[in-house]
Amino acid sequence: MPPFDPIASATVRVAPHLEPGFVHKEQVEIARRKLADRLARRKKRPNILVFLMDDVGWGDFGCYGGGVAVGAPTPNFDKLARNGLQLTSCYSEPTCSPSRATLLTGRVPNRHGLHRPPMYGEPGGLQGEITIAQLLSDAGYATQAVGKWHVGENETSQAQNVGFDDFYGFLSVSDMYTEWRDPHFFPEIVYSDARTEWIKNMPFNRCFVHATKGGKAEDVEEVTIPVLSLLDEKWCRYSEGFIERMAGGDKPWLLYHCTRGAHFDNYPHESFLGKSPARHPYKDTLLELDAIMGRLVETLRRTGQLEDTLIFVSSDNGPHMETWPDAAFTPFRCAKGSTWEGGVRVPGLLMWPGMIEAGRQSDGMFDFNDILPTLLGIAGESARLPTDRYIDGVDQTSFLLADDGLSNRKYHHYWLVKTFSAMRCGEYKMVLSATSDDASDAAGPGGFTGTLERFAYARLYNLYLDPKEQHNYMTRKLAYVDAFQQGMRDHLATFRKYPPKTVMGLSARRE
Ligand code: CA
Repeated sequence: MPPFDPIASATVRVAPHLEPGFVHKEQVEIARRKLADRLARRKKRPNILVFLMDDVGWGDFGCYGGGVAVGAPTPNFDKLARNGLQLTSCYSEPTCSPSRATLLTGRVPNRHGLHRPPMYGEPGGLQGEITIAQLLSDAGYATQAVGKWHVGENETSQAQNVGFDDFYGFLSVSDMYTEWRDPHFFPEIVYSDARTEWIKNMPFNRCFVHATKGGKAEDVEEVTIPVLSLLDEKWCRYSEGFIERMAGGDKPWLLYHCTRGAHFDNYPHESFLGKSPARHPYKDTLLELDAIMGRLVETLRRTGQLEDTLIFVSSDNGPHMETWPDAAFTPFRCAKGSTWEGGVRVPGLLMWPGMIEAGRQSDGMFDFNDILPTLLGIAGESARLPTDRYIDGVDQTSFLLADDGLSNRKYHHYWLVKTFSAMRCGEYKMVLSATSDDASDAAGPGGFTGTLERFAYARLYNLYLDPKEQHNYMTRKLAYVDAFQQGMRDHLATFRKYPPKTVMGLSARRE
């Protein structure tokens, strides 16, 4: 048998509403046996910790080439990579809310409807969607969300109403709580009583909140700048408390821990302020996030739950380069907001001692929408996959658990707001349209600025030879054209049976 090749191999569609995937029979059997043996031994389904950061770049951790080299050592993330699986082709969506909703629902933004982030109290979010938290809660899991939410401030979209037992965090995004309070960024608001009053009358909650299942969110504290600098510490303590409470209990659990950092603007906790070699707020914040990761892993170890817990670490989009130098590091083209690799290629670390081989690296594709079916697979609850809607994720359980596991995903589909932008298969990416950027400017490539360019002819990039997507290879690689076009047509055809939805499009509508 020749080695497996993703471009030359066919996928299997097991149901009309499920994304086709590769079926690697041997690794499926290995994973099935590993899970069955573990369950027999440990007598409890596995716990899951999703640790999601904000706007942290693909290259920021030492294990991805950053760390010490860019003035912010990340020993805990690097250790986690050495003890687990490091993904080099983990894909988010281009911005926060689309990514987070995709992670929670297993669906691309054109299906869950959060094409862009809701801001300053704009209503609309996850309402009507089925989340992984809901499915695991139905399966008997304890479900805890901590930190940034940002998939709907409206009540029916809040964490406690879409499957989480408990939520402790803020409903929106970091800058919204502080930018208008900081005279460096908004002197025209800070020094104007009228504008400060005007901001305060906007329909968003300026506090971080606590809520329990089905209940109303209660304000904990107004997020002023000094409070903001303490949030990641407060949220870490809350998650540590949750992990401690769960130890020795009957219930497996899902902890969805979303950090405040390192989204602009960063006001590091005083114990990290100026402590990075770079002495820059973004880098200081990375040190803090790394320390928090270490604390959560240590809490799992101390409470005897480390071997029972799958940990997934990632960031919700590429680095935001339009807030430079409060920005991060990517070796790829462009940044947050775009469908160039820099916008959507994110770090992806998975650790599960005894279950995921230590020290593995893989370039197999793993998409945020794979998380829902994969966590159900890991929990032995795949039968709970929704049947009334299209699920874009594929179950990657066997990719993760088999020692030499291959990704079960053939394509990554790139969506830019409502525009289908590109598709990757193997090392090739065909681009129909993308944001115009300055690919020669490493510090200011754009991301949100620029126009949407629709190319007269599709472009083809080889991501191994050309990770910065600067050399259109199409004319020399015409043999791929038909196969890639067919892959795109198949994806777009799913929207005929399962129509797209808009909750947060270019212009938001009030509920
Ligand atoms: Ca983000």
